[in-house]
Amino acid sequence: MSRQTIIAANWKMNGNLALVDTMTSKINSINFAENVKVVICPSSPYLVALSSKVSNEAINVGAQNISEYAKGAYTGEISADMLNEMSVNYAIVGHSERRSLFGESSAQVAQKVKAALANGITPLLCIGESEAERIAEQTETVLSAQLQPVIDEIGIESFKNVVIAYEPVWAIGTGKTASPEMAQETHKFIREFIAQHNAEIADGISLLYGGSVNAATSEELFAQTDIDGGLIGGASLKVDEFSQICSTSKGS
Ligand code: PEP
Repeated sequence: MSRQTIIAANWKMNGNLALVDTMTSKINSINFAENVKVVICPSSPYLVALSSKVSNEAINVGAQNISEYAKGAYTGEISADMLNEMSVNYAIVGHSERRSLFGESSAQVAQKVKAALANGITPLLCIGESEAERIAEQTETVLSAQLQPVIDEIGIESFKNVVIAYEPVWAIGTGKTASPEMAQETHKFIREFIAQHNAEIADGISLLYGGSVNAATSEELFAQTDIDGGLIGGASLKVDEFSQICSTSKGS
């Protein structure tokens, strides 16, 4: 089946209004292959400016986080309603930095996925193992333990509106990209795990690879059978490099 190819940019706590300007000027003019979507996720103060500058239908605006709560006394949080008002239609959920630095559990991540879906926002659900877990051959156990609470919370049918980003923690920001073969093997495992619950959903879901992807590695990674694009951190802050990654993404 032909799946949506997604190239997502995670700016993390980087970037500024000037980057919003230069990035959109460059990528608005790309003639994207059919089936390719780009999602730019800046820090929340730049969401409105980014939304107002995007003029290419293939480009979407995403948040880096979303609260599991609808509103109230949650200082520093951002709700799904607020994201909706800013024309944000994607949200990164469960990034490894949120899990490790801000203590987000898989149960909390599941609640965030639920809040996003309930408000028409597509969650980019991040999962991935640490280096120690890979060495201990725990990768599949860890990924299953990250996915299962979400499946239990929202039901497998709702995964038709979820995008999964597999990001091995040891590859994030380290310059150590998983080899295309290793990434493919793990993506295949993830698709099969979903297929155990629902084969049709597994066939249609977009699975992204993230972890030190750059313009030199993206094409081969995204050409793997079970890889439907990428979540890109460091390289998404470089206008020319990110634009090259977008331009060479062929779609499925
Ligand atoms: C990320 O933070 O999601 C990421 C993949 O970062 P980088 O590309 O810099 O490894």
